[in-house]
Amino acid sequence: MGKYIGSLCRLCRAEGNKLFLKGRRCLSDKCGVEHKNYPPGMKGARVSFRKSHYKLQLREKQKVKRFYGVSEKQFSNVFAAAAQKKGITGETLLKNLELRLDNVVYRMNFAYSRNHSRQMIRHGFFGVNGKRVNIPSYIVGLNDEVSFREKKRNAENVKAMLEDVKGLVEVPGWLIVDSANFTGKVNALPNRDDVSLKEVEERLIVELYSK
Ligand code: SF4
Repeated sequence: MGKYIGSLCRLCRAEGNKLFLKGRRCLSDKCGVEHKNYPPGMKGARVSFRKSHYKLQLREKQKVKRFYGVSEKQFSNVFAAAAQKKGITGETLLKNLELRLDNVVYRMNFAYSRNHSRQMIRHGFFGVNGKRVNIPSYIVGLNDEVSFREKKRNAENVKAMLEDVKGLVEVPGWLIVDSANFTGKVNALPNRDDVSLKEVEERLIVELYSK
């Protein structure tokens, strides 16, 4: 399936959840979910369909997939990797998504949104432990240092962006950010409570993939 190029707010409305896909706008009163808290479509406000269990499972998967901005294929790969590890599959899945470089860059307040973060990573703005990494799905590990590459950080527009984005999201306790030096560190591995998407029942996703 091709890349989705429609309205991002429609995705949030379809899931009935804020997925924070538009940076600062998501925190303002212009947020689509705040205005129209019903599914997109002309009858969304009036018609409510009873959801089958399968539909609940599917919606939960779509919500997580859209929140982290991963494709169907990437999502099923992350799930397969989580299923092979010891521990609770659903939790491992969420923790692995949380450790993606694009998510970490966003949560360090180095980008306006995960989409923006992905774009910058692909353009070579970041390094991990001093080495250039241009793969948004790269999984960071404990004690890894994520930094703006030197030749990118000095551009005036980058400095202005970093100043503007400062404090946009709360930096979680498992990350340490040194914005003056354009770096951040993975200080601990996230646990279930650290997952950015709060309203998620990962058990439904595991059920869906276990069929
Ligand atoms: Fe979703 Fe609101 Fe952000 Fe639009 S503004 S992408 S509805 S969270």
